Amino acid sequence: MKTVDTIHFKNKRAVVRIDFNVPLNEQFEVTDLTRINAATATLKKILNDGGSLVLMSHLGRPKEGPTNKYSLKHIVSAVSKALGVTVQFATDCIGEEAFQQSSQLKSGEVLLLENLRFYKEEEKGDVGFAQKLSKHGDVYVNDAFGTAHRAHASTAVMAQFFDAANKCFGYVMANEVASIDKVLNQSERPFTAIIGGAKVSDKILIIEQLMSKADNIIIGGGMAFTFIKAMGGQIGKSLCEDDRLQTALELIEKAKAKGIQLALPSDAVIADAFSNDANTQTVAINQIPDNWLGLDIGPKSIAAFGEIIKNSKTILWNGPMGVFEMSKFEAGTKQAAYDIVDATKLGAFSLIGGGDSVAAVNKYHLADKVSYVSTGGGALLEYIEQGSLPGVEAIEKK
Ligand code: AMP
Repeated sequence: MKTVDTIHFKNKRAVVRIDFNVPLNEQFEVTDLTRINAATATLKKILNDGGSLVLMSHLGRPKEGPTNKYSLKHIVSAVSKALGVTVQFATDCIGEEAFQQSSQLKSGEVLLLENLRFYKEEEKGDVGFAQKLSKHGDVYVNDAFGTAHRAHASTAVMAQFFDAANKCFGYVMANEVASIDKVLNQSERPFTAIIGGAKVSDKILIIEQLMSKADNIIIGGGMAFTFIKAMGGQIGKSLCEDDRLQTALELIEKAKAKGIQLALPSDAVIADAFSNDANTQTVAINQIPDNWLGLDIGPKSIAAFGEIIKNSKTILWNGPMGVFEMSKFEAGTKQAAYDIVDATKLGAFSLIGGGDSVAAVNKYHLADKVSYVSTGGGALLEYIEQGSLPGVEAIEKK
């Protein structure tokens, strides 16, 4: 991948797509600096070379054009602090004034453009809008992995207005892509994918893709119950997608035919209500009484999954094993996280991706004990499903 390391930015203006879609509190203060901090290495490299920066991002999902709540002006001071430079702000990303501001930037200076999504053209991938944005810089840098699965004006379409020598990836993008590539294409065996979360329908494509890559696929979380019911089990009121029973059976058959171990839970922690105050018991996962629902995997499943995880050399984890947000149903997810940490200590490469498994790893303060925590849930899943992303292709296309 061609990164910012391959370009010397002295006296060049870099127009950089980053992911500054950060959470704000009611006073419009940034409450989590992760994404801003993640971008600083790329931005500092350009500034240290003697270049200047025009920063582009979206924030939230504004529906009706400019909205104070979604203005990127709220993050100017946080970005200034992270970079150690007073960041200038342009109140309209393609307004006349914005172009005046960007054209006057001197080496070491930084301009942040207002929320790109104040224009509907951004998400539509409008070519004219992309062309206007391209006029903000000599070099186009994409470091927004979180939106790399979208063919939006700033994430993909505008790359066509720069020749190959003047477009590249930032470090966030490069690291994300390298870590997925390591898992999917250069994985040391055995490769175990742990897939959990609520719905089978969200994860069918990824499971199918993993069938040609992984040695073991562990299924946990709410989605396991669709598989259990498909095999004739009684699952009570547990989460189930009845229109996916056939799909679940097909996935089981496919795994058998390919010699892949598709590991399903054998027991479950069940509850008489979806609540941390509910009564609970542990039962065989295919014998859940009517009116009870499975909210976590049970101790036998935890032990069996732990064995597989600890014997793996490559691990991909997406989706919790249970309703880990409630303490009574967090054991499966928590232990999976600790087992992944143990495997990592033994030399495995572990990639954690997807919102809720990342939240789980953070909840147990284990993020620095696994190999890589992805910042882009949707982008990561789509990369695995499709083998490529619009934001990556746009820059790599000759
Ligand atoms: P996803 O976004 O599909 O990865 O799903 C994550 C959500 O699935 C989390 O909020 C979990 O609480 C939820 N979840 C995991 N296991 C279960 C379960 N057995 N029943 C209901 N929800 C679950």
